[in-house]
Formats: sequence, structure tokens, C-alpha cells
Amino acid sequence: MNFEYEEKIELVSRWISDHEKIVIFTGAGVSTESDIPDFRSSGGIWERFDPNEFLFDNFLASQKVRAKYWKLHTEIYYTILKARPNLAHLACVELERMGKLDCVITQNIDNLHQKAGLPEEKVIELHGNAMRVTCLTCGKEYDRKAIQDRVEKGDEAPACDSCEGPLKPATIAFGQPMPFKETREAENRSREADLFLVIGSSLVVYPAAYMPLYAREGGAKIVIINLSTTPYDHQADVFIREKAGVVMDKIIKALAVNNLNSPPKKIKNLVDSVKTG
Ligand code: NAD
Repeated sequence: MNFEYEEKIELVSRWISDHEKIVIFTGAGVSTESDIPDFRSSGGIWERFDPNEFLFDNFLASQKVRAKYWKLHTEIYYTILKARPNLAHLACVELERMGKLDCVITQNIDNLHQKAGLPEEKVIELHGNAMRVTCLTCGKEYDRKAIQDRVEKGDEAPACDSCEGPLKPATIAFGQPMPFKETREAENRSREADLFLVIGSSLVVYPAAYMPLYAREGGAKIVIINLSTTPYDHQADVFIREKAGVVMDKIIKALAVNNLNSPPKKIKNLVDSVKTG
């Protein structure tokens, strides 16, 4: 479909009005307007660090790699800590309040969907959350701040209090198994969606990038909002190449106008019954 920008906004807002099981899939691009850079755009982290060095097996095998990993993740942690949710995160909360949102499936580790006000049970985190730390040996979970304080005091590669296993931010490194429960849940929710919005993802990181394909197989309409092209643009019903916050804010405003002009069915029935009654 070849629509102009404003027409696309109008169309997507109509689809949101007409659908009940909306799944939103977010990547690093939903948080760049909150000043958390993505990894792949120019100047991103993978231009400064070699991702191969941080493979999960290397983390397990080498104290030196663990120390370097904690150094990189200390930088990421402080960036995340001072970030505030932007209009795109707030739009997701607005859809939840309207009863439209089935869930957000996110590749992000920044906790910004929850910080914006989405209930924990509405967010499926495929790549973990940087605000927690896990012991890779016994699975004990820690609050990030407590462990970060130890790192600041010179513990370069902290170990577990209980079993002395290596501690790692509770995020998924390259080569680390995906969280089973979350991945399965995300696949099921994607297949059951009737409208699937991708916001700010390059759709090149797997298995996360399968989600829009599952949604497509399940019969959902697909909308991609991303600044650059993705391998699945040709499969999307609508592709919007603009900033996530700007687009989502426009969609929410269009939705408010549409709802005023044609209220949702339940309200309309009520209005009609009052008129005829
Ligand atoms: P990515 O870096 O591969 O792609 C981000 C995409 O967002 C790019 O295609 C870019 O063009 C687009 N983009 C950037 N700013 C945008 C904006 N304002 N509006 C719309 N689009 C925008 O990110 P990814 O696909 O999510 O994969 C990278 C992996 O790295 C993720 O799986 C995630 O785990 C991790 N990561 C997380 C964060 C975070 O938590 N905020 C940040 C960086 C990386």
C-alpha cells in the first residue's frame, strides 16, 4: 500500500479502534528519544566495542572478559538510570488504559515501559532487564543497585554471596540461551494478535525478529514504525519511516478525534438506547 504520512496515521488509528488484541513489539529505537542510543546506528555501541568479545561463553570462561563486560554494562546502566520514558512509551500506556493493549513484547533492557506506567504483567522482556542481576550458577537474583555499588567499590567482576558463581546483569548476551517462558509467551501472543505494531526495531536480532512473522501467520495486520528499513517492510501492511515518539503521539491524538466522532460500539449502544428509550 502506498499512502502518504498523514493517511497512514489516520489508517493506523482506525485499525486501533477496530481491533481488540493489539500487540506492540519494541526495540532500541523506541528509547532513542529518551537518550538511550541504539546499538547499530552510527556511533552506536558496536562501533566502539567488539560484540564477539562479549559472547556468553567468553563471559563464563574468563574473569578478564567479565570485568570488561561489567565496565560496558556500567556505562549502559547509568544511561538507563537517568532516562525518562518518551511519547512512544506513554502511547503504549494510553492504549493499555483504553483496553486495547494485549501486551508489549520488548527487546529492550531499559525498564522504560514499566517506568512509563505499564503494569509488569503487560510487558514481556525477551532480552531481560538491566535493573536486575542474576547468579549464573545458582540463579539467585539481586537488585542491580546493590551489586553496582560493589562494582563501584572496586569489585570488577562480582560473584554470588551464596555460591560464589559469576554474577551478570539479568540481560541476554550474544550466545546466551533465551528465556524460555518469555519467548514462548511472546510467540503465543504474537500468533493471537489481530494488530501487531513494530516500533523501533531493525528486526535483525533473532529469535525476537520472528515475532512479526508469527503475527503475520496468525492473520494480524502488521504496522512497522522505524527510522530505517527492515527486512520485513515488504510484509507490513503499513510502514512509517519517522520517529517513534512523534508517530505514536499523532496516532493517539487521531484516535481521540476518531473516538469523539464515532464512539466505540459499547458507548454508541448506550447513547442509542438513551435516544430511543
Ligand atoms: P537496533 O539497534 O538493531 O535497531 C534499532 C532500530 O531503531 C534501527 O533500525 C533504527 O533505525 C531505529 N530507530 C532509532 N531511533 C528511532 C526512533 N526515534 N524512532 C523510530 N526508529 C528508530 O535495535 P534492536 O532491533 O532493538 O536490537 C538491538 C538489541 O540490543 C536489542 O535486542 C536490545 O536487547 C539491545 N538494546 C537495548 C537497548 C535498550 O534497552 N534501550 C538499547 C540498545 C540495544
